[in-house]
Amino acid sequence: MTYVPAENRYENMPYRRCGRSGIKLPAISLGLWHNFGGVDVFENYRKILHLAFNSGITHFDLANNYGPPYGSAEENFGHILQKDFKNYRDELIISSKAGYDMWPGPYGNWGSKKYLVASLDQSLTRMGLDYVDIFYHHRPDPETPLEETMSALDLIVRQGKALYVGISNYQAEEAEKAIAILKQLGTPCLIHQPKYSMFERWVEGGLLDVLEKDGVGCIPFSPLAQGMLSNKYLHGIPEDSRAAKTTGALQQNQLTTERLNQIQQLNDLAQQRGQTLAQMALAWLLKDPRVTSVLVGASKPEQLADSLKCLENIQFSNEELSRIENILSN
Ligand code: NDP
Repeated sequence: MTYVPAENRYENMPYRRCGRSGIKLPAISLGLWHNFGGVDVFENYRKILHLAFNSGITHFDLANNYGPPYGSAEENFGHILQKDFKNYRDELIISSKAGYDMWPGPYGNWGSKKYLVASLDQSLTRMGLDYVDIFYHHRPDPETPLEETMSALDLIVRQGKALYVGISNYQAEEAEKAIAILKQLGTPCLIHQPKYSMFERWVEGGLLDVLEKDGVGCIPFSPLAQGMLSNKYLHGIPEDSRAAKTTGALQQNQLTTERLNQIQQLNDLAQQRGQTLAQMALAWLLKDPRVTSVLVGASKPEQLADSLKCLENIQFSNEELSRIENILSN
């Protein structure tokens, strides 16, 4: 089957400027952490990627160790790029990262120049690309000087292996330092990728203000709290869910009675808004203009189709917002 993208793919997706850069990202981006690895089904993730691009999703987020096994999501994505998206490379923003465990020994983890440069070379080979659009340092390294890590990002851009750089999982203060170093080096930080959802709100305690002040974009990951912010766990743990899979990062003990109670109440409110809970959870993030894009995952095309419909209503009344705060504070 030859893939032909939908002609109207740019009609319904809003594109939001990433900080004070020249780049706009789709309000919804797709992440390949789960569901695109060697353990997953090719025809299923291929359909998810087709639906994404047909719907105006231009941004696909990867990392060296996405799989399992490590590297397999990049390999699989590279395969589909070659097969289906080869003629559309200039319509795509592809990101990768390094910062977590990737290969044995002292040079396959954290934040040294040695690791970052080698890891990106490996990622490019796996995806069959000359460059990525965004390369991230995946998490702060308490032992490597920040100057070394940031100068590795600067070097990678100067080598033409990435167009832009970003940081992920950096707290407000360390993000501010990293952004300042990158600015000094002449390679501005494009974007920060933090964990942010109704259930995970640390970014509101300073990081979003830093990003706004410094003109850096923000792309929250796990915006559905790995699927907890949906109706799927209200009646037990479905067999095909992330919480049930041995390769899934969502632990069943995160689904406490209190959590399920909040999910039920949020689900009722979403229904009153005429949305699914997943749609409301994404809309709730997108109501903030400092959020450039939300980075969703999907195990089935139907889930992505559902999530995309959040764009039909990202407005909240004050009453709805305070009801959400009440539910989350219980
Ligand atoms: P989400 O919070 O969006 O969780 C995705 C999961 O939620 C899906 O696998 C599916 O679960 C469920 N789901 C998705 N859409 C729906 C829907 N409409 N209705 C019901 N259930 C739904 O994001 P992820 O945790 O997958 O993270 C997204 C991306 O963020 C990653 O792929 C990665 O790119 C990035 N990321 C970055 C990290 C970092 O450190 N920088 C860390 C983690 C993620 P199920 O499988 O059960 O069907």
